[in-house]
Amino acid sequence: MNNKPYDPELLYVECERCGQPVLWNPGDTTRILAWAGIDAGELDEKCMLVSDGCPACQPGKSSFNTQVVRLRRNAEGRVRAQRPPVN
Ligand SMILES: [Zn+2]
Repeated sequence: MNNKPYDPELLYVECERCGQPVLWNPGDTTRILAWAGIDAGELDEKCMLVSDGCPACQPGKSSFNTQVVRLRRNAEGRVRAQRPPVN
């Protein structure tokens, strides 16, 4: 097992509504993961974050729900986001 910790600051964040990359300030990803109860130790480079909105498409709203999705490459080499089951 490779247990090298993954730096959550390297995660790619995308807005679910407009599909644009969401840029957070340094440290925000770590803080938001902790706030969302997501264990950063379970993340790796195949994970990305999806935000339910972003300041670009929802101006005036300051907080957005965030969830982790795990990327999978299919046979065509395209990246597909796989949502974890919701409990
Ligand atoms: Zn957006």
